[in-house]
Amino acid sequence: MELAVTKECIRGDFARKVLEESGTNVNLCFQCKKCTAGCPIAYEMDVMPSKIIHAVRLGQKDLVLNSKTIWLCASCETCTTRCPQDVDIAKVMDAARIVALREGVEPKEPEIPAFARTMVRNIWWHGRTFELGMIGRLKLATGQFLKDTGLGMKMLWHGKLSLLPSFTDFFGVKGMMARIKKKEAEKK
Ligand code: SF4
Ligand code: SF4
Repeated sequence: MELAVTKECIRGDFARKVLEESGTNVNLCFQCKKCTAGCPIAYEMDVMPSKIIHAVRLGQKDLVLNSKTIWLCASCETCTTRCPQDVDIAKVMDAARIVALREGVEPKEPEIPAFARTMVRNIWWHGRTFELGMIGRLKLATGQFLKDTGLGMKMLWHGKLSLLPSFTDFFGVKGMMARIKKKEAEKK
């Protein structure tokens, strides 16, 4: 019999917040570790995905929110697909990132949220990504001005980076972003 995801079956504030953001009941996990075994980024993580799920169950909020793992997760959903208990681990990682940002926890991998913010702003401005503008803003945000310069020059040389932005469905994208912002504000 499938167990229903209800607030009553979750104990602890942190697990409840994760449930609210992800719709995932971490208590269904029986620690088989199939998620960890299939994760393509596990070799870089400091807390394995199965341990993140266990830590959420135990209310170990600091361990989860201060881990590199939640930022390194690529949202590929391999873990979610492999889980025999239908625990949506990828969504739990998303939820942990949301809670971390909302509560002002300093990200362990600051370049990753900086990249995500730069990307979203870029789409907001142009209706699609303008890579060269994005690279410039990301360098300003991270202070890593010389990182990957050689690769960038090669891409420019081979015409893989355009010098000017192209605007695609500018107003359509603005409307979509405004709807997302409204939904986020309603959630708070
Ligand atoms: S695959 Fe599912 S049940 Fe197994 S450890 Fe990961 S989350 Fe838990
Ligand atoms: S979604 Fe994240 S945790 Fe899951 S397999 Fe992919 S990278 Fe690993």
